[in-house]
Amino acid sequence: MINDFIDYIYPRNIKCILCKNPISKNNSYSLCKDCFNKLKFIKKGCSKCGKPLTDFYKKDICLNCETKEYTFTRALSCVEYYDNIHKLIYSFKYGLKTYLSYNIAEIMNDKLKYENIDFDYIIPVPLHKKRLKKRGYNQALLIAKQISKIRKKEVLDIVVRNENTPFLSQLSREERLKKMKNVFTLTQNNNKIYKKNLLIVDDIFTTGATVNEISRNLIKLEPSKIYAISFATGKNIY
Ligand SMILES: [Zn+2]
Ligand SMILES: [Zn+2]
Repeated sequence: MINDFIDYIYPRNIKCILCKNPISKNNSYSLCKDCFNKLKFIKKGCSKCGKPLTDFYKKDICLNCETKEYTFTRALSCVEYYDNIHKLIYSFKYGLKTYLSYNIAEIMNDKLKYENIDFDYIIPVPLHKKRLKKRGYNQALLIAKQISKIRKKEVLDIVVRNENTPFLSQLSREERLKKMKNVFTLTQNNNKIYKKNLLIVDDIFTTGATVNEISRNLIKLEPSKIYAISFATGKNIY
């Protein structure tokens, strides 16, 4: 596998993955102190969508989720989306820096441990085959594989994206939901997930429409719980 090879040749903890300054071997996530301190880790997130809540907000569920029905149990994100995170994700997705999946997975795994999320199988959000061909790799699958290595849990690449949904981020929530219908199907090889806990993995969580739609397909197979984790998410102000 090309990615195992990249893993092997890329020397870890020598340069900061954000600013490229030299770092000490013991630094967490291959980040220098400055960049680490700038990361906005989500400590208090909505118990449903995982988006950050301010300390002043008293409830554990955000206003947006109070009126929403999701098909998944709970979604989590690790950090708030801002310039540096944008750069990091961009170079990971489009700049061939696939080795970043390792550091991203490390951060995600710590979040999963912190929130006591117990899962049996890891399910990456798929790319449409045309986009996969263009990009050369599915970033969510790379992260899923790294989490799989750390946690010794199997990756089930069983969701297929039928349609290319190129400008999803520019649509309203309603338009997105409409567009998402029938976007995903499951492959035949999926009888393992009955009564199991699933973890859907993606790099970014926006409105939750993607995860919700994947999970709507998965619940037909009666898993126990469906969690979702992404690396970064945008902020709602509550
Ligand atoms: Zn740095
Ligand atoms: Zn929420």
